[in-house]
Amino acid sequence: MVMTDVAHTAAPSEGADLLSTVQQQFDEAADLLDLPARLRGILRAPQRELTVNFPVKHDNGRIEVFQGFRVQHNLARGPTKGGIRYHPAVTLDETRALAMLMTWKCALAGLPYGGAKGAVVVDPKQLSLGEIERLTRRFATEISVAIGPERDIPAPDIGTNPQIMAWIMDTISMHQGHTVPAVVTGKPINIGGSEGRLEATGRGLTYVLTTASQHLGLKIPEIRLAIQGCGNVGSTVAREAVALGMKVVALSDSRGGVYNPHGLDVEAVLTHKARTGSVAGVANADSLSNEELLEIECDVLVPAALSGVITAQNASRIKAQIIAEAANGPTTKAADAILYDRGCLVIPDILANAGGVTVSYFEWVQGLQEFFWSEREVNAQLRRVMTNALQQVLRVAAERQVDLRTAAYMLAIQRVGDAVTTRGIYP
Ligand code: GLU
Repeated sequence: MVMTDVAHTAAPSEGADLLSTVQQQFDEAADLLDLPARLRGILRAPQRELTVNFPVKHDNGRIEVFQGFRVQHNLARGPTKGGIRYHPAVTLDETRALAMLMTWKCALAGLPYGGAKGAVVVDPKQLSLGEIERLTRRFATEISVAIGPERDIPAPDIGTNPQIMAWIMDTISMHQGHTVPAVVTGKPINIGGSEGRLEATGRGLTYVLTTASQHLGLKIPEIRLAIQGCGNVGSTVAREAVALGMKVVALSDSRGGVYNPHGLDVEAVLTHKARTGSVAGVANADSLSNEELLEIECDVLVPAALSGVITAQNASRIKAQIIAEAANGPTTKAADAILYDRGCLVIPDILANAGGVTVSYFEWVQGLQEFFWSEREVNAQLRRVMTNALQQVLRVAAERQVDLRTAAYMLAIQRVGDAVTTRGIYP
């Protein structure tokens, strides 16, 4: 299965690491906000968690029981929103962390949602299309008690794609007896998906990157990008950057990377990957490892693959002036401090990759209204949301003398905390 959404590959221990990282980031921002203890207690842990174990019949008749999760972190600002991940190493802790990140991401973008995340512990590459369909339909049925257009709206994430969203939509619609387009986003366009949704995460990142570069006084045609990861997001960023006149000097996937200091021919690299399965070995480029890519001479580094790749070990060797986080959680807490001291501008995941959920919101609105927008309208609204969010984060960062991640968390936590306070504690 191809065309996954936000890029990420987890190692088994990463789930707990990511949860402790996002909780530390929350604590730091909550301290700076002087957030009352009662609000901290409410916001630090997920509101609802559902674990499901369900059987799926393989093509050869064998029955296997799979485990899945749906975590709804906070419902104060509206229904919850977030992707579903299919990955063999995904854990409940990782799903909790990702749900919490979704709450902040939605609040920061000003979307009327809380955050959620779903996952199934499975390697979709090991299953046939029919097996993936049966797994998806059964998982959708198991979590149907929790999802719905007014309750919680899933979307694609690692290992899932528009076709899987179509099966979820169809399954829920069969249960209801009528079509329910707004129960998921990231659907194929012919059944109510939005124009521009597939490219939205990468495109939103380039909008933010352009504004941030201007803020730093960088000249767009002189910008050299290194992109780690070449899935949906990494490849879209590469294409959009070239269209803006930037140079992509390095690009990689799980099998390795390629480098050309004068700029790669991005279309040739993507064609080579489509043909051979990897960017490695393309003509007119040197090869380099995923680790080397992070430290290469460039102006902008876009980690669009693994979480936890920028660490205290390599942060001081990173040469980029801007890091735009396409993946969720690519930078550790210790690395953040080193990068801040060195004057590197880190555009945090909850800001840099918020384009996906923003166009998901547009898709949900279009589905509820049964009135569809042109790609031009979608992109114009996406640009407005992304640049507004960046301006607000830059303002808080300057006022409070903090890095962009802390500023983004502060803005988001304040908004969610205010919603909880205004609604009051029930009963
Ligand atoms: N999975 C994406 C993310 O992590 C998109 C979620 C959505 O569109 O709801 O932001």
